[in-house]
Amino acid sequence: MKPIVALVGRPNVGKSTLFNRLTRTRDALVSDTPGVTRDRIYGACDYGQRDFILVDTGGLESDVEGGLELLAVEQTRQAIQDAELVVFLVDGRLGLHPEDAGIAEELRRMQVPVLLVVNKSEDLDPGVVGADFYALGFGTPLTISAAANQGMGRMVDLVEERL
Ligand code: GDP
Ligand code: MG
Repeated sequence: MKPIVALVGRPNVGKSTLFNRLTRTRDALVSDTPGVTRDRIYGACDYGQRDFILVDTGGLESDVEGGLELLAVEQTRQAIQDAELVVFLVDGRLGLHPEDAGIAEELRRMQVPVLLVVNKSEDLDPGVVGADFYALGFGTPLTISAAANQGMGRMVDLVEERL
């Protein structure tokens, strides 16, 4: 079985953009409207030395009430449980968001290995971004830009080190 890596984070942080970049597909729907990924999407990572499977998720929101949103969150939890590693994606432009802390807490509760990655960092100082998100408790984050195709190789190296 190939190891599974789940992309997890709030809506709109760029999970689907990153998924498409790493799989070299357009299988995941990228949208400015949060919450369009209602299902789990699987694809083979086309970077790096090892074969692993990426899962794009609908994101983890802490304030959902039910219906489709709750279904998406439950699917995301299942994807996390099936994963060897979670790439916890956050938005460097927006900075640390209260919901990021909630997701961090949930990931710690689930006791899954986590790699913290700050997306949308194309115009940002990695030191400043790193200091901001250090508070989440997963060490110094890696900064990338999925849209600008920056940091993909380094990210995959770090993922593979942990598989
Ligand atoms: P998801 O909800 O986490 O799957 O996020 P999406 O991949 O759908 O992206 C949400 C929005 O963020 C879209 O408008 C993307 O074009 C944009 N986006 C994704 N990655 C980056 C990035 O690295 N830099 C910037 N500036 N925007 C990005
Ligand atoms: Mg998405």
